[in-house]
This record gives sequence, structure tokens and C-alpha cells, in this order.
Amino acid sequence: TMLSLGRMSPQEAERIVAFDREHVWHPYAPMPATEEPWPVVSASGVRLTLADGAELIDGMSSWWSAIHGYNHPALNTAVTGQLGKMAHVMFGGLTHPPAVRLAERLVEITPEPLTKVFYADSGSVAVEVAIKMALQYWMSQGRPERHRLLTVRGGYHGDTFGDMALCDPVNGMHHLFSDVLARHLFAPEPPPGYLADPDEAYLAGLRALAAEHAGELAGIVVEPIVQGAGGMRVYAPEYLRALREIADEHGLLLILDEIATGFGRTGELWACDHAEVAPDIMCVGKALTGGYLSMAATLCTDEVARGISEGEARVLRHGPTYMANPLAAAVASASIDLLLSRDWRDEVDTIEAVLTAGLEGARDLPGVADVRVLGAIGVIETREPVDVAEAQGILMAHGVWLRPFGNLVYTMPPYVCTEEEVGRIADAMYAVAESL
Ligand code: PMP
Repeated sequence: TMLSLGRMSPQEAERIVAFDREHVWHPYAPMPATEEPWPVVSASGVRLTLADGAELIDGMSSWWSAIHGYNHPALNTAVTGQLGKMAHVMFGGLTHPPAVRLAERLVEITPEPLTKVFYADSGSVAVEVAIKMALQYWMSQGRPERHRLLTVRGGYHGDTFGDMALCDPVNGMHHLFSDVLARHLFAPEPPPGYLADPDEAYLAGLRALAAEHAGELAGIVVEPIVQGAGGMRVYAPEYLRALREIADEHGLLLILDEIATGFGRTGELWACDHAEVAPDIMCVGKALTGGYLSMAATLCTDEVARGISEGEARVLRHGPTYMANPLAAAVASASIDLLLSRDWRDEVDTIEAVLTAGLEGARDLPGVADVRVLGAIGVIETREPVDVAEAQGILMAHGVWLRPFGNLVYTMPPYVCTEEEVGRIADAMYAVAESL
């Protein structure tokens, strides 16, 4: 038989899926699994190849990371080049060129006051580190009682215990744990719509909440402009500006989680650029390595770093084994270079236009509650929860890989998708909406 590279015999594919279902946990899944996962054997450009040879356009970018597509020559070379030198080494007491080169780039391309870089090994850990920075900062000021955080409903910041306490406490994925989580302060989610007129009552409520609790607050934590895994909502830059003002008024640290929104996804390099707002602490991840390896980073200002280091604790109490992994750092630098070398704004604007044209019509379908598009993000919110298996049947018949969740059918495609490919993603999403 003529099996192409990476192709798998039906027997082997069946064996892998069967063992997987009995022994391997998947995200937010029971064990053994009720769902049959699709065996994927290779990925190149914007396409995934399944064991049976089917090719699917990946409208998910591997959970919003693979912005340049898969098997990219420049990214491959960055990894293999570094592999010949050093795959990993501890970061305690040692440094290396990939870590420093990436830090130089991050300091250069993130908002100006951010000058210090902590390398985390996942987005969740980057948010944990941000929380820790904020709390240690206030301990250093002799104000340990300022250990709570102000956030908004509808957010998602990661699956670890510190982060779970910042996710939506009622409809989010972690309400199960609410009794054992840190008690932070939740304002309602910002009113929806990028272009919505500012809701003065909402802003007044936000200001009142912050003023009432300022003495116990370390900072404000939000996803700027787009709330991702907590509901794929979009809000107006005005609210982010208001949060910066509130933070300044009460001396709170503004912590922005740009893990999902960073590196151009929303049409600006950083979502906070929509509001011309700079944070005191910022988390990046996901697209940082172009989807190649697990790495994230927490950046902070000189003032935050100095505050922590001049305090009694002196050291920031964090340091993972795989901190600043050289392979990940090398491919991250290559990914940033690649992004900046292309006309990424034009790519993202084109995706926005194609998604808008392809999805807006779905607004009138009976099963559809809302349609939202911003940058390279397209969302159809349905009235009822989507049956994932049914929806994926329709999507895959269109040659498209997406993974709806709850009432959301959404795409965050690689920026290198052609107009035709984005059009196919939009058509597939429309077909799902039409089937409801
Ligand atoms: N923050 C945001 C905004 C995210 O979207 C995610 C991942 N969906 C995380 C944090 C957690 O990142 P990770 O899954 O890499 O731990």
C-alpha cells in the first residue's frame, strides 16, 4: 500500500484512538472519554491531516497559537538550529542567548513602561506570576492587606488555583471550586460591543466598587477588549481606559492578560493598543511561540520590579524547571520576527473583512443570538448550546476544523489563511448556524 508520510493504517488509527479513550485525559473531559477524538498525524500550512488522509483547514490555530500556520520553514529552522546547541538548561544562575534575544524583542514590542520579563511555561503560570508580582509588590510596601484583585465577570485566566479565582465565578469553568478559591472582587462584565456608547451607570458602578475596596486591593486584572474562553465577548476601549484611570486613582496595579489577544489577533499588536492604555503587568502566551512550544511570559514595569526587590521578601517567589526553555525562546523570537516582517495588519484586516461578510448574515437565523467579529476573531453565539458532534459533522464536511463550546461557534484562524480559506471557515460556521 502507498501510505504517504505521516499517513496511518486504519488498524493503527483505531488502536491509538481506543487506547486514548481508556487512558489519556483530554481537556475538560471525563475518563474514560465519551467523545471519540480524531487522530491527527501531521499539520502543514493551515491544514491538519487526519489518519484517514482527510485534510482540514484549522480555524482554531491550535487554540489561537499557530498564527503562521504549521511546519513553517523559518520556525522549524529556529528549533532545529537551537536543538543542535542546547535543548534546555536550568535558568537558575545561568542565562543564554535565546532567552536574552527574546526578552530584547518583548521589551521592544510591548507597551513602553514594560521592561522586565519573567518566563513562564504556560499561560496559566504567567497569570499566577502576575498575581504573585502584584501581591509581593504590596507586601513590600508594608501593605499585605492589599491582596485582593478586582476583575470583571465573564473572564478566563487559566486553570490553576490562583487563576481559577479570577475566572467567571458563576458561568465559568471552575465554579465547582468556588468554596476553596481566593475571594476576589467581581464587577459585571463590560457592556458588549466594540462600538457601544459608554454606559455611564456601568462606569459609575465600577468606580464605586474600586473606591469602596481600594484599601484591600492589589490590582485590577482583565483580558483587554476581548474576553476569550469565558464567552468570546468584545467590549469597547472606553472601559479599558476607565480601568486604567481607576487603577491610577487608587494606586492599583493594572494587570492585562494578553495571552489570547496579543500578537495582532484583535487587529492591533496588543489589544490594549485599541485604548492606548499601558498596563503595569502584562501576560503573553499562546501565539508567543507561533504555536510550537509551551512558553508564556509576564512583563512588568521598573516600578513593580523595584518594589518587589526592595521589599523584605526581596526575591520574586517563582522559578519553574523549564523557565526560559531555549527551544521555545528561539522559536518565539523567530515567530515575532516573522510576524513583524509580514504585513500582518493587512492579513488580519482581510480576515476581519471576510469573516464579517461571511458571518453577518447569520444574525437573522432563528438559532442565532449574536454575531461578533474583531480582527482575526469571528463568533456566532447560538441561542441553545451546540451539539459538538453534530456541529463537527457539518464543519468537517466543509473541510474545516473548529471546536464549538457552549453557545459559541467561533474561529481564530492562522493569519496566513487565504481569503478563500477564511471564506470556507465562515461558510462552515454559517452552515452550522443554519442547521439549528
Ligand atoms: N489567559 C487567557 C486569556 C487564555 O485564553 C488562556 C488559555 N485559553 C490562559 C490564560 C491560560 O493559558 P494556558 O492554557 O497556556 O495555561
